[in-house]
Amino acid sequence: MSDCLFCRIVKGEIPAAKVYEDDEVLAFKDIHPQRPVHILVIPKKHITSLAHATEADTSALGRMLVVANQIAVDQGSPDGFRSIINTGHVGGQEVMHVHMHIVGGPEPVGPMLKR
Ligand code: AMP
Ligand code: ZN
Repeated sequence: MSDCLFCRIVKGEIPAAKVYEDDEVLAFKDIHPQRPVHILVIPKKHITSLAHATEADTSALGRMLVVANQIAVDQGSPDGFRSIINTGHVGGQEVMHVHMHIVGGPEPVGPMLKR
């Protein structure tokens, strides 16, 4: 997906503050952090959203979960974090490449959903 923002970050065409990388996933700081720690973890392979995920995506999507805690600890959220994956219109997804938000810091992030 040559015009996908996060694919372009994977390819190094757009700069990002990378905090973790392996064969399957990349993690970088959210450009508009909503908590002291706000990291996005993405599969390097383009997956539009969880509504588009297939069996072939199992490993990359699982990897996103497996690496999350170490990233949170390394970034300053040692006592837990919140992970959020927005999907589609109802989920409020803005960037159409699967990404998991890791939000946290020294203090609890607060109620799960707020109107
Ligand atoms: P979502 O609403 O779940 O699709 O979240 C998209 C997130 O991507 C937002 O929190 C944005 O601040 C973040 N974002 C957009 N562009 C960039 C970028 N170039 N680098 C880092 N984060 C970005
Ligand atoms: Zn993409």
